[in-house]
Amino acid sequence: MSDSRLHLFDLNREAIEGLLARRDVAPWRASQILKWLYHQRELDVACMTNLSKSLRGEIAALTDAQLPEVLEERVAADGVRKFLMRPIGLGVSQAIETVLIPDGSRNTLCVSSQVGCALGCTFCATGKQGFSAHLRTADIIGQAWLVQGRLKELGDSRGITNVVFMGMGEPLLNFEPVMRAVDLLLDDCAFGLANHRVTISTAGLVPGIDAMIGRTSSSLAISLHAATDELRSQLVPINRKYPISRLLASAKAYLGSLGPRRRLTMEYTLIRGVNDSIQDAKALVKRLADVRCNINLIPFNPIEGSDFERPIMRSIRDFQRVLLDSGLASIVRKTRGDDIDAACGQLVGGVQAGRSTIRTQSFASEQIPTVAVAGSFA
Ligand code: SAH
Ligand code: SF4
Repeated sequence: MSDSRLHLFDLNREAIEGLLARRDVAPWRASQILKWLYHQRELDVACMTNLSKSLRGEIAALTDAQLPEVLEERVAADGVRKFLMRPIGLGVSQAIETVLIPDGSRNTLCVSSQVGCALGCTFCATGKQGFSAHLRTADIIGQAWLVQGRLKELGDSRGITNVVFMGMGEPLLNFEPVMRAVDLLLDDCAFGLANHRVTISTAGLVPGIDAMIGRTSSSLAISLHAATDELRSQLVPINRKYPISRLLASAKAYLGSLGPRRRLTMEYTLIRGVNDSIQDAKALVKRLADVRCNINLIPFNPIEGSDFERPIMRSIRDFQRVLLDSGLASIVRKTRGDDIDAACGQLVGGVQAGRSTIRTQSFASEQIPTVAVAGSFA
């Protein structure tokens, strides 16, 4: 297939309408095309029989329907499924990971937005890997399309109920492709998810958060991890550019654009002896006193090449108690899928001769009892 063709899965409703307008075709036909692609799962334009034959011919000549390629699927003991996928036009060494987390009535999909990540957070496996490529919209929405198909095959009629941009990469550094994928996740003729069921997680790209205002209505999660700039800059180097006060101001402005019923999610990875003391908890309470948010405490997931450790359960609970006693909604996120390295921060897309890199670290999920499921997955 020629590279000059448009990829149908890169196109949100607006882009399809633009394509149609240039052919004097009414915009409502975009709904039909979207439904063929996402509801009927029809990849062949020639089979989209409610479009005129000539329109089908024109679209078919201009476009293709490429998707990422699933290289491997692994299932963890707790039912979490990790998919290794080769993005369109990239080699297997640039594979990405997508994680499906079934939990009660939900099927949450954790998608990647980039191959690797440039932000170098010191506790994150993806960050240690460095940046290698941006994903296109077709790669991002393609992760959801492919897993939706897999769920159908498995007889799971719920399909994907929630999507979180918490896989590999910093979504706001790949802004437009990510936004177009979010458009499709929210579009009734595509995935039709409610806006609070799609969450973009950012390490704190202030210009990206500002640009979300008026562009989308998805939920926003901030990877905070520290209450002081001194500590946060060590853990999340982008904090040197966009310190906590600026970050929270932008996050609050975005929340303001969503109306009074929505909340932000603050992610706080708890690392033993680094940010898990009672003092740290009190500083966090102070910092978030005027922010409408839920706090997700993520027990650190060990990664190769890092001396950081997960705190013991007792100190996680003590930390959480300080937040709860101050009226801050907080949950301890379940550690899921870690026997296949599918937990937060463990995604590296490693491929060795077509198989994902299997490391020996494994932590029983039972080690970390939980209060509830992740708020950002709500
Ligand atoms: N780049 C985005 C989204 C991907 S990371 C971001 O940073 O928000 C998803 C979440 O996993 C982030 O909150 C991140 O800080 C956290 N995380 C990264 N490495 C981790 C690790 N080793 N243990 C626990 N959480 C981790
Ligand atoms: Fe990138 Fe997020 Fe990992 Fe930081 S935590 S290195 S922003 S993927």
